[in-house]
Amino acid sequence: MTATPAIETLVVKVGTSTLTAGTSHLNRRRMLEIAQQIVCAREQGVRVALVSSGAMAAGRERLGLEKRNGRLPLPEKQMLAAVGQTHLMALWEQIFGMFDVRVAQVLLTRADLSDRRRYLNARDTLRAILDHDILPIINENDAVTTEEIRVGDNDNLSALVTNVLDADLLLILSDIDGLFTADPRKDKRATLIGEVREIDDRIRALAGGSKTGLGVGGMSTKIQAAELVTRAGASMIVAQGARPNVILDAIGGRPVGTRFLPVVTQIESRKRWILSERTSGAFVADDGAVRALKSGKSLLPVGVKTVVGEFERGEFVAVRDAQGREVARGITRYSARDASRIAGKRSDQIEKILGYNYAPMLIHADDLVVL
Ligand code: GLU
Repeated sequence: MTATPAIETLVVKVGTSTLTAGTSHLNRRRMLEIAQQIVCAREQGVRVALVSSGAMAAGRERLGLEKRNGRLPLPEKQMLAAVGQTHLMALWEQIFGMFDVRVAQVLLTRADLSDRRRYLNARDTLRAILDHDILPIINENDAVTTEEIRVGDNDNLSALVTNVLDADLLLILSDIDGLFTADPRKDKRATLIGEVREIDDRIRALAGGSKTGLGVGGMSTKIQAAELVTRAGASMIVAQGARPNVILDAIGGRPVGTRFLPVVTQIESRKRWILSERTSGAFVADDGAVRALKSGKSLLPVGVKTVVGEFERGEFVAVRDAQGREVARGITRYSARDASRIAGKRSDQIEKILGYNYAPMLIHADDLVVL
């Protein structure tokens, strides 16, 4: 077994099949078991975000429909999700409330996670929720998302959330034990693969097109999720949601399900990402600010003399020294228009000048690569 570094941030995804325990209703007992483990993880100091499916299943339960969604027209599925999402959240809130854990609902679409500006917004909101010790419970905004703008399955959604949060581990709880050498329902000799170091064609082929019960995911969406997560430097585990202590064992590094190992470090991955993008402008920084950046600090407006070019919040911007040399590159929290109004000013004046403030810095140290 590989030594597992301590988990700081964990994303837990629970699929519909886990929440319903294979029935057509939400299984309260299962939800309670999951909540108890999340509470324990939080007590160990782990920051946890929960991606919960089950909105449509909850809607079906609420409206007393027994049938599956397969044949329903899209607006009716969306109606089920709209009815079910509040029901699902009410249950989670009640269950976590027993442990004095406050929850926040975050409904996302693909655009929230791909458009730069909205990506920053989603990330800052999620971080603020975690910083306040609140448990974010995330789902896709099914009621209003159509085919073109939806992620479509919560395996991929939870992978995007893992990357947005720079989490160390994504734990996908499902009704399967993990990835097998063959389909265990058809082949008795199938064995569980404990660890995957590289997702190659053989692994993709094993995932096939398997699909389970009421949810929309299968092994193939889990492999897609694993590719997203491991390429960004985090690990992912697929495990049986009904297994006692599965969450606590996963964060403790004990063997559960199938663990997909990261292929790069998080720092390398972020660096590669930032350096691979074209910059749309530059901040010209004074010597003090350049020194601060080199010692790992954020770029504050007070250290910026001029703003060059046109860019929006969330775009990639170069940082140049007084001689015009590029010394760093990162994601800006303010547009060029706003930045030029606050350049040279102290951070506590941002609100007064702009009428709002996204953050005290122009580029956060986490979003910055020093060259
Ligand atoms: N967002 C869907 C729901 O809550 C689930 C998607 C999935 O199962 O992957 O019902």
